[in-house]
Parts: sequence; C-alpha cells; structure tokens
Amino acid sequence: MEKLTSPRVIETLLKKYDIHFNKRFGQNFLTDENIVNKIANAGEIDAGDLVLEIGPGIGTMTQVLSEHARKVVTVEIDKKLIPVLNETLKDCKNVEIVQGDILKTNVREILGDDIETMPFKIIANLPYYITTPIIMGFLESDLPIESMTFLIQKEVGERLCGEPGTKAYGSLSIVAQFYADIKIDFNVPSHVFIPKPKVDSIVVTLKKLATPRIQCDNKKLFLSIVKASFLNRRKTLINGLTMNTHFDKEVLLQVLEECGIAPGIRGEMLTGKDFANISNHLNKYTA
Ligand code: SAM
Repeated sequence: MEKLTSPRVIETLLKKYDIHFNKRFGQNFLTDENIVNKIANAGEIDAGDLVLEIGPGIGTMTQVLSEHARKVVTVEIDKKLIPVLNETLKDCKNVEIVQGDILKTNVREILGDDIETMPFKIIANLPYYITTPIIMGFLESDLPIESMTFLIQKEVGERLCGEPGTKAYGSLSIVAQFYADIKIDFNVPSHVFIPKPKVDSIVVTLKKLATPRIQCDNKKLFLSIVKASFLNRRKTLINGLTMNTHFDKEVLLQVLEECGIAPGIRGEMLTGKDFANISNHLNKYTA
C-alpha cells in the first residue's frame, strides 16, 4: 500500500469510509513522511517503550510509532475513523486502538499493568482545540510519564517556554516549568497538513521531572494561586488574588509583605519561586 502521508491515499480512504474532515475534532492530517519521522525521533522512543498516542487520525504516525516502540495504545474520539484504523493498522500487532475522548479516558486503566513495567512516553499531533487541557492534565497527573512530544500551535509552544515579563508568560508557563524540562524541537509549516491549519505549528518535548522543580508545601494551593494571579492579566497581584481566591485581603497583604513582594505588581513579573513562596506563607492560613 502507498504511504498514508500521500494526500491521494488519505482522500481515497476517507471516500471509501464516507468520512469528511471534522473541524469539531481538530482534524488536520500530516502529509509529510519526513515530519512524521522527525516527530517520532524527537520522542526518542526505545524498543522497550510503551507509547500513548492521542488522536491517530488514519494511523499515519501510529504506523511509525509501532515500528519503534514495544507497544502503542492510541486513543481516537471519532468513531468513524475506527474502521479506517482497523484497516491501516492491521499489520501493526503491537498497536491497541481505543475509541474515546482522551479528556474522559482513564489512561491508567487502558494501559493496564504495562505502565508499571515499561518506560512510558506520550506522542501526538494534538487536536488544537484542546491542547492546553491535555497538556495540563498529563502534567498534573500522577502517571509515571517520562516524556511527552507534541505537535501543537506555535503560540502554545511559546507559552510553555514563556519567561517572566514576556507576553507569552502565564499560568501555563509556570505550571509546565514546575513539572517539566521543556524543549522546542522544530517548526512545522502549515502546508504539510490536510486541511491546512490557520495557525503556525511547532513540535515540543516535555521531560517530566522526578520531583517538581520548586519546593512547595501545598501543591494544590500553589497551582490555585498561580491560576488566580493570571485570570485577569491586567489586574495587580493583590486584586487578582483577592478576586480569585477565598483569602481575605488583609491576609494576602500580610503574606505579600512577609515575602517582600509589592502588592501592586502584576503576576506576570513573578517567577515560579515567588509563587511558591507566597503559597508556602499562605499555607498556614488554610484550615
Ligand atoms: N495523528 C493524525 C495525523 O498526524 O495525521 C491526526 C492528527 S489530528 C491533528 C487530531 C486527531 O485527534 C484527529 O484524528 C481527531 O479526530 C482526534 N481527536 C480530537 N479530539 C480528540 C479527543 N478529545 N480525544 C481523542 N482524540 C481526539
């Protein structure tokens, strides 16, 4: 059979199964074999690895992952694509196809005992409409993830790597950098997709740290403080925290003074360490 990256093959398969590209599911299929191989290489998959793929589409990247990994579990939301995947992946004996929404899937359950015994990596050309919840969900999960390699919007890639004081910096930057080392792998032009996405794309790899980068006493409080500080970007830190947390303004002012942080500053000027410091001081006021 011809390569699944061939636009002619993609169109023939979709016609055969009476499928149309579904915008609602963020379907932009890769048509460049070189890019598919580069993503798999960026994921540094070893022969003993267990790989979770999100959104296989017609199975283009799944075939390549299957050649490199010990086992691939791939989760596709679109029921209409399952018969296509059964055809394109029929010779890939180490691939398991799961139909479902990745945001509602119990990943530990579908991976079973293999997750305890095999190094675990995640690779995906992500559906762009849910990039952030997927990345946040896996970062905050307790799954033993070694690394995640994602093809995503360039703008989200920049936010993941954002530095304090820049436009790209926000809660996603702080949370991602709290849990992982992040590396931009390479840019991906829009002409290698069918249909072409309207935004620029990039491949990033997040290597999950064994323990979070910053020491904080109450992780849940730290994450809620970070998110509260960026909900209204134009507000000062004290106003953001007063509006978006249950702490009294007096308590917040007291804590900011203890931390040596000016209440009138904007959240985007603070580092992850500053937020950890605030949450460690606030922790004594939680019941
Ligand atoms: N991997 C294929 C490729 O590179 O050509 C397709 C990538 S396409 C950008 C995203 C895929 O994710 C589509 O197949 C889409 O149906 C699927 N998808 C969208 N939302 C999903 C969800 N919530 N859970 C699982 N798969 C989803």
